[in-house]
Amino acid sequence: MSSQSKLREVRLRSASPTSNERALGDLHAKMRACRQCLEAGFSVTPGAVFSGPASARLMIVGQAPGVTECETGRPFNGSSGERLFDWLAEAGWDEPAFRAAHYMTAITKCYPGKSPNGKGDRAPTRAEQKLCAPYLKQELALVEPRVIVPVGSLAVRRFLGKVRLTDVVGTVVEGSEGHLIVPLPHPSGVNLWLNRPENQERVTEALTHLQRLRQEVDL
Ligand code: SF4
Repeated sequence: MSSQSKLREVRLRSASPTSNERALGDLHAKMRACRQCLEAGFSVTPGAVFSGPASARLMIVGQAPGVTECETGRPFNGSSGERLFDWLAEAGWDEPAFRAAHYMTAITKCYPGKSPNGKGDRAPTRAEQKLCAPYLKQELALVEPRVIVPVGSLAVRRFLGKVRLTDVVGTVVEGSEGHLIVPLPHPSGVNLWLNRPENQERVTEALTHLQRLRQEVDL
């Protein structure tokens, strides 16, 4: 390679993170302004919730923000977030460092409101998931995380198809686009799945994988 082409290559490489940050910033502005679900008649509270830089090596994908997340504009900011960060602490991360370095988003980005039966939040419908899907696709393309952690069944199925949590939590799956996928259950206090000791062991195994990957792939 001539010295001129080498110089061009170095320039291209150093330009790319900045252009990705810029493109991600544009995407964030679009997501914040999005009202598609509201316009389609769904009872969401607009104001997309997500965080993290384009340089993130790990991406957490939840189901949808809750009311606390919606009010503060911070993903996993309520009681589910407390449990999630307790888990991540077991894998070696402290919350401020994790939030600064890694990307957090969801299948649908706006608060869907309370469930009609009063138990927790409403799960976003398929139609809402479809409306929001292009945003997640673009986030993945711009951030290019090495490791994806889908949290909860809905997010796990987005990456692994129709699987049972009991079959995949505690494993590391290589995704079709080369990502490593480490599924976790929903950390909500009302998630009965977590009450079973064998499922708690699955979560511990998943956290052990994350701790190992943290060293091996420099997360
Ligand atoms: S959930 Fe997604 S598609 Fe629906 S309004 Fe919010 S950002 Fe737009």
